[in-house]
Amino acid sequence: MSKTFQNIPGTFDILPEAFTSDGTTVESSASWHYVEERIREVMAHYRFHEIRTPIFEPTELIARGVGELTDIVSKEMFAFERGDTHYVLRPELTAPAIRAYLQHHLAQKGGIQKLYYMGPCFRAEKPQKGRYRQFHQFGVEIIGAIDARADAETVAVLIQIYKSFGLKDLVLKINSLGDEKCRPAYKTALQEYFEPLASKLSETSRKRLKTNPLRILDTKIEDEQELIQGAPRLVDFIDDASREHYEDVKGHLTALEIPFVEDPFLVRGLDYYTRTAYELDSPHLGAQSTLAGGGRYDLLAQELGSSEAIPAVGFAAGIERLFLALDGEGIALPDAEQTDVYIIALGDGAEKWAFKTANEWRVAGLRVAFDLQGRSMKAQMRDANRHGASKVVIVGDDELTSGKAIVRQMETGDQETAPFDGLLALIR
Ligand code: AMP
Repeated sequence: MSKTFQNIPGTFDILPEAFTSDGTTVESSASWHYVEERIREVMAHYRFHEIRTPIFEPTELIARGVGELTDIVSKEMFAFERGDTHYVLRPELTAPAIRAYLQHHLAQKGGIQKLYYMGPCFRAEKPQKGRYRQFHQFGVEIIGAIDARADAETVAVLIQIYKSFGLKDLVLKINSLGDEKCRPAYKTALQEYFEPLASKLSETSRKRLKTNPLRILDTKIEDEQELIQGAPRLVDFIDDASREHYEDVKGHLTALEIPFVEDPFLVRGLDYYTRTAYELDSPHLGAQSTLAGGGRYDLLAQELGSSEAIPAVGFAAGIERLFLALDGEGIALPDAEQTDVYIIALGDGAEKWAFKTANEWRVAGLRVAFDLQGRSMKAQMRDANRHGASKVVIVGDDELTSGKAIVRQMETGDQETAPFDGLLALIR
């Protein structure tokens, strides 16, 4: 027997119909379209414009943009090389977006750039529910704005996207990370706090204690989370300007009636994250509770080669986790794209007529389906139902002779007869 192939674990196919495999449901392509279109619609309301960047990027961009010490760069990159050039499949889209902004001199277009993106990302993680090797992110970047309203606007569009699906169980956590000037003092304070506790820390956290102690705060280990409760808090170390910015962000969120909780231990573990950090959680995701993470990164552009600092703020969100949250809140999405009309043809002559007519109506802008197997009336009617057709046109030998077809409204079951040349107008 010849070998058949399977998709790589941690990736999945999206099919016309939803399916479940290994306890994970993959929604239908129609559901994906629906979700993607909704997201684009809300992005348009908030005047974010799409940017599409390549699926692969130079390794160095991602290493710098995401940070050498992060899990993503140190162990999760899908990397390959050709000749002397090293590439990675993009694990996220902020570094590529800032690269494109700098490369195309978007700063010179005047004003502030409000970009959004949507597409696949790749991380070599251990596959589990809500955590895949190829997953889909959407996100925004507001580039060039230092104003606290920009931070709040990224939160507002994020929340509105989830709300537009009817989601209610959303928890927004925020914090301020201060800037690069107050960070060293906080790092030292964390090291002083954790060093005597080192024997109680995991190996990973012990390593982080030396390299990047802020990342210890990211731990998912319960015992460590308890230790963190007594740790020094970032808010006590931040400078006056950052504190003022933080107060402004909170004020703007309150003005927009967006509820939030302050989480003094929420960090985005990279050095060039500054000031605002936030996370959107859902209680329906189990171990992977985060729907989206965002914040300000005023130092990233310089890290990627800009001669000057370019303030920027944004978020990244996972579409698979959005689906999990929808499922958790019992929100059903359209599972099939509607068919306007299904033509049932009985007999050779009628099949020829249906084949030609279906194409004419398709060209005229209707969604038209018909049977390709010459099946019985009953089987074709079942197929019409499966297509979710709102109308069915029935043609057999008698109809061909009379030049009239039967039109059936599927919802009511009402039927009428109409001449061929009046069908299109009737169906529309
Ligand atoms: P991050 O770039 O790590 O802050 O991730 C932003 C968002 O992307 C997360 O909150 C998740 O919703 C989603 N995400 C990140 N990694 C994965 C993954 N491996 N599988 C599915 N979703 C992910």
